[in-house]
Formats: sequence, C-alpha cells, structure tokens
Amino acid sequence: MKIRDMNLDEGDVLRVVIIGGGMGGAEVVRNAATREGLELVVVEPKDVIECQALYPDYLGGRVEVDDVVAPLDPFCRKMGAVHLKDRAVKVDLADKRVLCEKSDLDYDLLVLAPGAVQNYFGIEGAQKAFTINTLEETVRARRFVEEESPEKIAIIGSGPTGIETACLLAEGGSFKIYIVEMMDRPLPTLSKNASILMEKILEGKGMELLTSRRVEAIRDGGVAFSDGSRLDVDMTIWTAGVRPAPIAEVLDLPKKKGWLLSDRYLKAEGKEDVFVIGDCAWIEIDGKLATKTGMEAEIQAKHTARNLARVRQGAALKPYSIRASTDSPVALISTGCGCAVGIYGDLCVPIPKRIIYTFKSWIDKSVVKRFKV
Ligand SMILES: Cc1cc2nc3c(=O)[nH]c(=O)nc-3n(C[C@H](O)[C@H](O)[C@H](O)COP(=O)(O)OP(=O)(O)OC[C@H]3O[C@@H](n4cnc5c(N)ncnc54)[C@H](O)[C@@H]3O)c2cc1C
Repeated sequence: MKIRDMNLDEGDVLRVVIIGGGMGGAEVVRNAATREGLELVVVEPKDVIECQALYPDYLGGRVEVDDVVAPLDPFCRKMGAVHLKDRAVKVDLADKRVLCEKSDLDYDLLVLAPGAVQNYFGIEGAQKAFTINTLEETVRARRFVEEESPEKIAIIGSGPTGIETACLLAEGGSFKIYIVEMMDRPLPTLSKNASILMEKILEGKGMELLTSRRVEAIRDGGVAFSDGSRLDVDMTIWTAGVRPAPIAEVLDLPKKKGWLLSDRYLKAEGKEDVFVIGDCAWIEIDGKLATKTGMEAEIQAKHTARNLARVRQGAALKPYSIRASTDSPVALISTGCGCAVGIYGDLCVPIPKRIIYTFKSWIDKSVVKRFKV
C-alpha cells in the first residue's frame, strides 16, 4: 500500500514508532508531537537521552552526568508520546510490526534512529580499551582516570572525538598523552588547514602525535603497531571509527557499506513507510554525503517530523537538503582550557578561541536542556 493511497478519515491517527531515543529520535518526538493525527511511541532501552558531544567534557571533569543527559520518560510524557523501555531486535516490514526483547508493537510509520556503535575493525584487544561512545563507557573511563591516576594515556584515532578527548583530559591532569593516527595527519576527514592548525595546538600542549601508525593489537598494557614497534601506556582510549547499530544488520532494507540507505526524502530506499535518519543512515543526495553529526541528526529529525505530518495529511513529501556534508564539514572542536577551533570546509577559525568554545559549550548544553522537563 502506498502512503498517499492510505485514504485516511479526518479523525484517524497514525502510529509512528521511533526506534532509538537519542539525538535524532528525541528530536523527531519534539517536532512531531504538535502535529495532528500522529501517535508517537519511542522504543529505547535507556532511561535517558544522551548528548554524546559532552562526553569529552565529562571525561575531563568539566561537566557532570546531569549536564549530559535528559530523562526520557518525563520528556515523552510532556510531548504526549510513549516511551517503551525496550530494545528492538527485528522488524517485520510486511506486517508492519516491531519485535522487541520484551514486547512487540505495530506501526503505521516507522522511524529508524538507532545510531552507531564503536567499530574496533576486528583489532585484537581493542574491545578491552576504554571508549567514550556511550555514557556508561565514559563514566567507566573517568572513574579509571580518577582512581588509577594513569601517567601515560594513548588515544587511538585523531578525529574530532579523539582530539577533544586528548585536550580535555590534558586540562584536568598532568598526563603524557599520545594520539595515534593511521593516516598521515590529524583530523584526516577535515581540511589540510585544520590538520596543520591542530598539529600546532597539540604540539603546544606537549602531546605526542603518532601519525601513519597502524595499530595491530592492544595487549599487555600497550599498543602494538604493524611495523613491530610498541607503545607502553597505562590507559588506552579507542575513538577510531563507528559502525551501524546492530539492529541495522538484521533489517531487510537496502544498505551501503552496512549503513541503512536513505533516499532524498529520508525514507528507506524503496520503502514508503520507513524513515531512516541520523548516524545509522547513509544519506547521499546530489553528490553530497551527510556527516554523522548531532547537527545533521537534528535537522534530519525536524525534516522527518514535517514529512510524517505530510503523510498524515495525504500531502507530497518534501526532499531533504544536506547541511553538513563530508565535502564541506562543519565542526567545533574543543581544545581545552576554554578554547576551541571552528572549522567550516577549508576555513579554520582559531581566533577568538574562547568565544568559539563558549558558543560550542552553549550549543551542547542547550541540546540537553531542550529535552529537560
Ligand atoms: C564522543 C562523541 C562526541 C561527539 N561530539 C559531537 C559534536 O561535538 N558535535 C556534533 O554535531 N556531533 C557530535 N557527535 C556525534 C553525535 O553525537 C551523533 O551524530 C548523534 O548523537 C547521532 O544521533 P542519532 O540519533 O543518530 O544516534 P544516537 O544519539 O546515538 O541515538 C541512538 C539511540 O538509539 C538507541 N538504540 C540503539 N539500538 C537500539 C535498538 N535496537 N532498539 C531501541 N533503541 C536502540 C541507543 O540506545 C541510542 O539511545 C559526537 C559523538 C561522540 C560519540
């Protein structure tokens, strides 16, 4: 059945099931809640909406757990939505039914927003390293730092998360920090200007940047490299790469490199009643590829909320336009001590740094606040 042929009566209500109550899923709820004729159910095993952008700040002791999360139940109640505290394990796309660990539920429209999980690329011992991809993991890492006082810390990956982790950790203690990168420059997905600037900043902080180094294993308290060399450290934090949330693997939907493929309306390719947004999605429109950022997830969620309402009204869906694409990425990277660097495509803005940090901090904290009741 095609959505536009749904033939709905005026009082009919469409049940929208949203898998994932993170940045994308919660933003769909916030924006779809006021729309007529939609019943919203969020399937999410966690009790809180987490703002991952603040994890490096939490690790560095700049903020506390309460600053980083918003409770999901009160938020959903306020929005007139339902939070089903459960984990989706399968979707019967023909019968329009989500199968969860503890219960099942039917949907008229489905929004997939289960995000991404850490990718260890099958590297031996990597799973035993600390990560800051979930709050639980970040709390574990901070506790280790506070209780064990590591002297030498290796951070694997020099993307924005790795850099922020290094800089915010350095701010809170006197560690020797090594940043390990497989490519020949830090921030390899951003412009060369950004890499050059970041190299200078890291050097100024006394950090050691090990580029063109491929990690072979994390073992015996150290990092073993493919060239046979080794780095002995007291703590290793893995920030190198993500992969789609496991639910994506079992869904019988088109994928690209494992990511769920969205079309220009942010629907699952070839499906009329399934939307796919946020980090789990591969969104490529007019030659642009969407970045996996909170900013993109938020705008995609707002767009999807409007399209859900259009479905209910029997109106045509509007195509999406990517804001932060991989060829013109937007990033605000905290570099510690109240400083940050703003990056937009080839443009890098290190001055006035404190203003950028204040701006970034305000954005991240306002994300959490908007979900707090
Ligand atoms: C350390 C770190 C720092 C970051 N910093 C920034 C930054 O500064 N700026 C920025 O723009 N972006 C940043 N990001 C990226 C940003 O956080 C993500 O792009 C954004 O959270 C993606 O939103 P999402 O809804 O797709 O996924 P998420 O926010 O991860 O939410 C996914 C939700 O789905 C739930 N879920 C997963 N599987 C299931 C299932 N089977 N059933 C039910 N629920 C499920 C999860 O529990 C989770 O709550 C950062 C990410 C990390 C890890």
